[in-house]
Amino acid sequence: MDVLLITLLIVAIIIIIIVRLFNQSKKPVFIAPISETYKQLLAQYVVFYQQLNDDKKKEFENRVQNFLSYIKITGVKTNVDDLDKVLIAASAIIPIFNFPDWEYVQLNEVLLYPDTFNHEFEQEGNNRSLLGMVGSGVMNGIMILSQHELKQDFLNKTGKDNVAIHEFVHLVDKTDGTIDGVPAFIMEQHYIQPWLQLMHQKIKLMKKEKSDIDIYGATNEAEFFAVVSEYFFERPKLLKDKHPDLYILLEKIFRKT
Ligand SMILES: [Zn+2]
Repeated sequence: MDVLLITLLIVAIIIIIIVRLFNQSKKPVFIAPISETYKQLLAQYVVFYQQLNDDKKKEFENRVQNFLSYIKITGVKTNVDDLDKVLIAASAIIPIFNFPDWEYVQLNEVLLYPDTFNHEFEQEGNNRSLLGMVGSGVMNGIMILSQHELKQDFLNKTGKDNVAIHEFVHLVDKTDGTIDGVPAFIMEQHYIQPWLQLMHQKIKLMKKEKSDIDIYGATNEAEFFAVVSEYFFERPKLLKDKHPDLYILLEKIFRKT
């Protein structure tokens, strides 16, 4: 009986070792270097990348490759081309570039629709929601983007809008459990109160008088954070000039300094 028990134990240990080895071998150990095509697309279309030094460019490329290795991108009634992939990955990396180990654990797949998408997915209240959204409930783990808008926002080098960055900022915000304009997971605790105060003050002002911040940001705190983050990454110098208070806190949130 003892022999039987020992044999069973040995068999069990062997099975555990085999299962562990199998699981390890499934993890991507090596990610191929970025292709010249992807590099050229980054250099041509992504201003954020253009402004990095050579070392940082290399890091950005690696992170784009890594992102594309674990996120599925699917075209719905459209074909996904290299530029789509590069722009989606760049939009994902830009907000969290100063967080070296970041992975979008809450995201599995990005669905790309040719233009605006169907009302059945509508979540955000006005037509902005037909350009991009982060899924919840049964759509958890899914992001939807308009292919047309994705490209337009990168082609327009002087705009303050970027729908893909907007949606990825919502995901960063969601890491603490709620999309509420306070990305508590990445924020140092002592900036939360000043950030809340500043958001409320700015939203109030936007509702009262004309602002150069997209009025969609006045919808609520979550949209405010996503909209001013687009502005911060697309036109940093302009934001610093027009809204130094916002710029300083966003710099702290995204650890740009
Ligand atoms: Zn939004």
